[in-house]
Amino acid sequence: MPNHCTIHFMSNDGTAKHVATEIVRQLQQAGYVAYFAGGCVRDQIMHLEPKDFDVATSARPAQILQLFPHGQKVGAAFGVILVRKRGWPIEVATFRSDGRYEDGRHPVDISFADAQGDAHRRDFTCNGLFWDPIADVLHDYVGGQADIQNNILRAIGDAAARFAEDHLRVLRAVRFAARLEFTIEPTTWHAMQRAAVDISGVSRERIGEELRHIMRHPTRGRAGQLLFESGLLSHILPIATANDGGRHQRYLGGLPAHISFGAGLAALVLEFCPAAPAARQTADALRTALTLSGHETADVGWLLENLAVLENWRDLSLAQFKRLLAHRLSDDLLALYFTRAPEQADILRHRIAELRSDGVAPEPFVTGEDLIQLGATPGPQFKQWLYALYDMQLENRLPDRTAALMAARKMLGGEAAGG
Ligand code: ATP
Ligand code: MG
Repeated sequence: MPNHCTIHFMSNDGTAKHVATEIVRQLQQAGYVAYFAGGCVRDQIMHLEPKDFDVATSARPAQILQLFPHGQKVGAAFGVILVRKRGWPIEVATFRSDGRYEDGRHPVDISFADAQGDAHRRDFTCNGLFWDPIADVLHDYVGGQADIQNNILRAIGDAAARFAEDHLRVLRAVRFAARLEFTIEPTTWHAMQRAAVDISGVSRERIGEELRHIMRHPTRGRAGQLLFESGLLSHILPIATANDGGRHQRYLGGLPAHISFGAGLAALVLEFCPAAPAARQTADALRTALTLSGHETADVGWLLENLAVLENWRDLSLAQFKRLLAHRLSDDLLALYFTRAPEQADILRHRIAELRSDGVAPEPFVTGEDLIQLGATPGPQFKQWLYALYDMQLENRLPDRTAALMAARKMLGGEAAGG
C-alpha cells in the first residue's frame, strides 16, 4: 500500500515546477495517473532546489503525444517524451519496469507498469518516491521517506542484484551519499564493495559524466573517501595507488565549494596518486580513463604543472608570477596550493595582493600591428618578439609605450643585424 502522507513543499515555486504541475494536471484530467517522480521529490522533501522536474504517468507514449502533440520522443524505447512548455523541458515518462539486463548497463527490454512497478526499477529508496502535486500526496512504495528522514542511502530491493544489473549504480551511490550527506546502509555498502570491480565494464563516457557531477559538488571530499573505500577508485583511475586512503581529505576536502572540474580532478590525483607522473602525462591518463574533453585535459595539465611551479613561488620572476595570476584558473591553482601548503597562505596572499594592485594583465604596449609598422613580417619569430616585449612590460622594465616601441625597434634591428 502506498504511504499517503502530505508534505509541505517549498513555497517559492520555480516556474519549472509550475509547468510540470500543469502537465500532471492535464494528464490527470485526461484520466491517467500522473506524478512527480525521482530526484525532484527527494530534493523538495530535503528542501533542496531540484535540478529538474520529471513526470511519471500511466499514459503510454502515444497517449502522451496525443495530449502534447509537440512532445519529442527522447527515449521512445523507454517511453520518455520531452514536453516543452513555456520554454521549460519536462520529461514525461510512462511507468515501466525494466526487464532483463544483459550487459550491466542497459535493460534489454522494458515493459510498461504501474507506479509501484516503476518505483521498484529505480535505484535507491530516496530516488523512488512519487508525489502528486494536485492532491498533495506522497506515494512511497519503497520506504524512501523514512530513509530520507534518517539520512540513509539504500538500494531498492536486493542490493547485489541491483548493482549487478547496472554497474554504474555503484558510482551513483557514491554521488548521492556524498551530495546528500547520507550514510550508506550496510548491506548496500557491502554490495557496492563487491560490485566495484565491475565498474570497468561501464563505458568511460558514463564514468566520466558521473565523476564530473561528483567533483563539481562541494561534497567532493566525502565522495573521494567513498570512491577509495568502496574500491571504485583504483578501477576508475588505474594510476590511483594511495593506501592510506587520503584519509585526511587534504586536497579534496580543503578546496572551496565552487571550483572547476579540472581542479577537482587535480585534487583527486594529488590525494590518491602520490607517485603521479609528469603533469601532462597524468592529464593524458585521465583523458583516456574518463574521456575528458580537450579543455578539461588542458585544465588538469595546467593546474598540476603550475602547482609544481608555484611550490617555488619566491623564485618566480615578476612576469612569470603575473602570467600565472592572469590565467583563467589562477584561483583554482591557488586554492590547490593552499591545501598543500597552508602555512604559506598568509604571506603568499599578501604578495599576490601587491601584484594584483599593480595589475597582472595590463594592455600590451606593443601589438602585432606595431611590429608590422616597424617592418617585421608575421611568423614564428614575430610571436617570440611580442612575448619578450610583454615580458619586459610585466617586469616593469618599460615605463610606457614610447619606451616599449624603442625596445621593439632595437629588438628588430638586432635581429636584422644578426640575420
Ligand atoms: P539529479 O538531481 O542529480 O539529476 P536524479 O535523482 O534526478 O538526480 P537522474 O540521473 O536525473 O537522478 O535520474 C532520475 C531518476 O531516474 C532517479 O531519481 C532514479 O529514480 C532513476 N534512475 C536514474 N538512473 C538510474 C539507474 N541507473 N538505475 C535505476 N534508476 C535510475
Ligand atoms: Mg535528474
